[in-house]
Amino acid sequence: MSQVQSIPKKKKRLRLLHFYPDLLNLYGDYGNILAIQRRAEWRGIEVEIDNLDLNSPLDLNIKDYDIAFIGGGQDRQQVKVADDFLARKEKIAEAVNDGLVILAICGGYQLLGKYYESSEGEQIPGLGILDVETQAQGRKSKEKQKRLIGNLSAKLKKPLKIQDYLQEKLDFILYRDSIYACDTLVGFENHSGETYIHASEEIGALAEVIQGNGNNLVDKQEGVLYKNIFGTYLHGSLLPKNPHLVDELIFRALDRRGEQLSAEEWLSLDDSFELQAHKKALSLR
Ligand code: GLN
Repeated sequence: MSQVQSIPKKKKRLRLLHFYPDLLNLYGDYGNILAIQRRAEWRGIEVEIDNLDLNSPLDLNIKDYDIAFIGGGQDRQQVKVADDFLARKEKIAEAVNDGLVILAICGGYQLLGKYYESSEGEQIPGLGILDVETQAQGRKSKEKQKRLIGNLSAKLKKPLKIQDYLQEKLDFILYRDSIYACDTLVGFENHSGETYIHASEEIGALAEVIQGNGNNLVDKQEGVLYKNIFGTYLHGSLLPKNPHLVDELIFRALDRRGEQLSAEEWLSLDDSFELQAHKKALSLR
């Protein structure tokens, strides 16, 4: 009698593109890459990481990636990458419209917007994919300039997609006790840029500030959400302190590929330390 062979399940795989790792990498931004890689791998999803730098071919098909990460940088570094970034605008816009998941932090967030005007008055052009504008604090009023620096916590304006998905599928008690019940984000900000969003149906702030400044000194809004782009001023590293956001990025990337995990698979990690760290960070002033 012939034995029934079980067909091995094809391993899920995600391709991650890290923009300018040598130039845009402030305050532990690389920890975000590790967090995505680890949380995916712990669930049996392989992550392949490619770096994009100033020498990478301009015709690189950014659309072929699942997740892109752009970290923060000092003004000097932003100037260094600006031209190269602009030269890739078409490929990036094509990928964004196709649903590429992007996490852009601080300087990276500013560069996806229309421009960043530095404290020296230099205007660094951005891609204009995000309808946001950034000016160094105090540029307009010509008053003494202030940096926006310190611990930052904020409440999500809308539930994450993974939260909607799991809330529908899981028993209330399981959901309530999981990391996914967190509707907050925590991290550390350090920027002079004040960002304003031209909000519309399609684009809006990611979260409402609880502690700290966020996008600017005025409207108590933090970050931006547009299509699958998450822009934020949260360094930290951001993702190890906000595992629900890591999983949101993976969730959206899998969705785009038509390969979702089950609710049980999402819930398979023990996040108790992460949850404690997140809660502790919420109380930091
Ligand atoms: N240079 C930008 C600013 O100061 C970005 C800083 C950062 O990425 N932390 O606003």
